[in-house]
Amino acid sequence: MCGIIGYVGKSSAAPILVDGLRRLEYRGYDSSGLAVMNGSSSLATRKKSGRLVNLKTLLTESPVAGNCGISHTRWATHGEPSDANAHPHLDQSAKLALVHNGVIENYQTLKNLLEKEGHEFVSQTDSEVLAHLIGRAYDNSEGTDLKMRLVSAVRDALKQVSGTYGIAVMHADVPGFIVGARLGSPLVVGLGKGENFLASDVSAIVSHTTNAIYLQDRDLVYLTADEFTVENVDGAESAYEVSQVDFTPEQAEKGKYPHFMLKEIFEQPTSIQNAFRGRLVDDQASALLGGLGLTPRQLRDVERIVLCGCGTASHAAMVGEYMIEHLARIPTEVEIASEFRYRNSPLDKNTLVFVISQSGETIDTLAAMREGQRKGHRVLGIVNSVGSTIARESDGGSYLHSGPEIGVAATKSFTSQVTVLALLALLLGRMRHLSVDYGQRLLREIRELPAKVEKILEQTDAIREIALKYIDAPGMLFLGRQFNYPTALEGALKMKEISYIFASGHAAAELKHGVIALVSPEVPSVFIMPRDSVYEKNVSTLEEVKARKGPVIAITTEGNTDLERIADDVIYIPEVTECLNPILSVIPLQLLSYHFSVARGCDVDKPRNLAKSVTVE
Ligand code: GLU
Repeated sequence: MCGIIGYVGKSSAAPILVDGLRRLEYRGYDSSGLAVMNGSSSLATRKKSGRLVNLKTLLTESPVAGNCGISHTRWATHGEPSDANAHPHLDQSAKLALVHNGVIENYQTLKNLLEKEGHEFVSQTDSEVLAHLIGRAYDNSEGTDLKMRLVSAVRDALKQVSGTYGIAVMHADVPGFIVGARLGSPLVVGLGKGENFLASDVSAIVSHTTNAIYLQDRDLVYLTADEFTVENVDGAESAYEVSQVDFTPEQAEKGKYPHFMLKEIFEQPTSIQNAFRGRLVDDQASALLGGLGLTPRQLRDVERIVLCGCGTASHAAMVGEYMIEHLARIPTEVEIASEFRYRNSPLDKNTLVFVISQSGETIDTLAAMREGQRKGHRVLGIVNSVGSTIARESDGGSYLHSGPEIGVAATKSFTSQVTVLALLALLLGRMRHLSVDYGQRLLREIRELPAKVEKILEQTDAIREIALKYIDAPGMLFLGRQFNYPTALEGALKMKEISYIFASGHAAAELKHGVIALVSPEVPSVFIMPRDSVYEKNVSTLEEVKARKGPVIAITTEGNTDLERIADDVIYIPEVTECLNPILSVIPLQLLSYHFSVARGCDVDKPRNLAKSVTVE
């Protein structure tokens, strides 16, 4: 959460920073701000609460000039969204500016100490304390090398804080110089010609350069227009690599779509294909996931699997649990990453842990990975962002290759995660009891998925009509069994996060254990009930809802027209083998929540209170 971009070069910094913030706005949109240095020891700051457009208006009224600057788009953790709490924050001398992503956990103790010394604070944020701390260390230091004094001051201050940070710092005494550091929050250096960048993620800089250094935890970097140095925060050497960014600026734009979410829903035929491309092995009727880095013998020895994730990734993990147990008969469980990281979960020797995160930066998932590794387990990542922290620190894994996902509500990452988990289940299954015949059938079915998704997407207008019918619904229930129980959870999450109505997902049979009390003519129930082994059971549950005058939207298999008799609305999806069904059945749910949200006038891509890439606890 929160986006940072810094620039030092020969161009005017403000337009570059504002464009970078536009691309990072999905990470937080409570406020935005920038500080720019004009090269002659003066620092201009502009910041505004609310969306980026407010900052743009301010900059039109009161422009800033200079070739070096830092900027921030905020997702508030400490202090309400307000102009005063917006970043950058200044130190006591007002000569140092800082932007921060993360949480300074001991900020109150430090603030008390600084206040006793006479420091005055203008915000309620934890971040301002860090600005003062660095400023104090700088002012108390001596020497004529002002750059190195600033670097040492950053080091000195960071030693005193506990918590997480991705920071960019500038000082009016040192024009054309930016210092950055990270611990727990992502930071990338972009290397250009005669210009350098610092950003929370590469989408902010990809239109300027594709050469990037993904900083590691405890790295510190300092930049001028022509040079950069990467060290450890303690001053020791730090090994780094210059990587090539793997997507184009166009991929991070909406193109012809009104929202990123809709664009990403429609990208799914391609993103699913990218998730299985080159990974289907016909002659073995199996899958190839080379990135796992495990020998067939090691894979054969796996006795238990733990899948960790948060939000949508945890729903994909639940589908994975069902698939792995069904196809490979390996006991599998899903752990919510934030729970796993703090509880003392007993893991046996032959347990394989997977952490699933689109961004590869989700802080709880990252911590779960480190906890698993600390216990001596091999932890593998299922990640979309190449070069992200989980991708780098995990013991191997698989990329999704979905391209950037910018809509805050995850869509294509879910179907790609489930696709990769299906490949994993197939691979493990074929090492155990799964027949060649069944393996071949799965390969065929996986290949057919993109075309089937395409067919569902063609129904977008019909799904919008259904959404409009229920526009005043105060809440919605999502019900499914077996493989589609996680889909029901995911459908409810989509509805909640972008439409702000109460929605809950349930294993359909749980209805009569309490949830049925919510059924009423105003509250629609969405049944995910393809023609599968539990279809008849779902029909009975549906009847129970209808008997209580609850409206029903049913998602079922093409050709199964039976439901038109009892359900109020029916959405058809192509037939597919049971375990892959969630990859298809989630698509109408994504479209339903999208159209519902648009019709209710909600901000689909930037839902209130949320942000993508949850890098704070
Ligand atoms: N803790 C800081 C604040 O509330 C930064 C939050 C963030 O990472 O967006 O301003």
